[in-house]
Amino acid sequence: MGAGICRSFGMLLLAIAFISGGCSQGQTAKVGIEQNFRPFTYTEQGENKGFEVELWDAVAKKAGIRYELVPMAYGELTQALKSGEVDLIVAGMTVNNARKDKFAFSDPYFQTGLVMLVHADNTDISSKDDLKGKTVATKLGSTAYEYAGSMPGIKEVQGYPDINQAYEALIAKEADCVIFDERNVHDYVQTRGQGKVKMVGEVLNKESYAIASKKRNKWIGRVNSGIQAVVKDGTYEQLYTKWFGTRPEKLPGE
Ligand code: GLN
Repeated sequence: MGAGICRSFGMLLLAIAFISGGCSQGQTAKVGIEQNFRPFTYTEQGENKGFEVELWDAVAKKAGIRYELVPMAYGELTQALKSGEVDLIVAGMTVNNARKDKFAFSDPYFQTGLVMLVHADNTDISSKDDLKGKTVATKLGSTAYEYAGSMPGIKEVQGYPDINQAYEALIAKEADCVIFDERNVHDYVQTRGQGKVKMVGEVLNKESYAIASKKRNKWIGRVNSGIQAVVKDGTYEQLYTKWFGTRPEKLPGE
């Protein structure tokens, strides 16, 4: 009898542990990533790849977050967050004040900036002052699109849903310059754009990337502890070196 009670009590404890364990894991997070933002998040032959895909996986494991990736176009991501189709956005999203008014952001995990790319034949653009009267192509809805739109004297800013279309416009000489995120431009210069384009000038605008969620959310605190944990155990540095070929100048949180 005593042993029976003990056993039932034990079972009860196990059941509670199981249920609360399940609760602390919570629901599966739907994580919006971008289909074409190399080398951060991109989909190739149905496979999701990139620095952020791998970094996120490590962060989620540390934070005990189960997740499912939902690849989409960049322009669809914020709408998907608002509608609840995704819970988090991991897509090289730059933190700025306008966005902070609408969304919650994790601690930043990547320092970068905007750069200028011109045709390999171009001889008249070497700094942003040379862009007066010129046509700039970039991605719609990006910080580069806003930045180009605020530059005085630009003739036209062409915004494309996919950055590849901006690069194609540059190659076809329909645009004089592409302004976009440094690492994506760099990736293009080293791959499909090799020999056809060149980066010019200084970094135009310093930016940092963070993970976004709705203002009221239950994720960002856990995501931040996950980011701290992957920095601490060396995973961040290892992934950074794998994808960018050098060690990070500064680690997140430094
Ligand atoms: N960092 C830029 C932004 O936040 C571009 C991001 C992207 O194209 N995925 O607007």
